[in-house]
Amino acid sequence: MTSLGKLIKSLKGYDVIMKSTGIVRKMDELGRIVIPMELRMTMGIEIKDPIEILVGDDECIALKKYQPSCVFCDETENTEYFKGKLVCGACRREMAAQ
Ligand SMILES: [Zn+2]
Repeated sequence: MTSLGKLIKSLKGYDVIMKSTGIVRKMDELGRIVIPMELRMTMGIEIKDPIEILVGDDECIALKKYQPSCVFCDETENTEYFKGKLVCGACRREMAAQ
């Protein structure tokens, strides 16, 4: 658990604590796994929502509801594209000041 938390922190710049759901699912012939309905409802994941796939050490794969965010700080609010990269207002101001 702890190693997966560290993994996600290193990839996305924030802390998470991962815990087992106790759910085990088998992958089908096409590599698909069904995320249980109750878990999708709890996480606010709707049909056709983009899901981000994170990978790392210890054979860990984590799924996250995809939210476009600032490339520097992972903020999801007040973001705009700058030279093809999404940047938040705070980071834009910080860059402008330098
Ligand atoms: Zn930012």
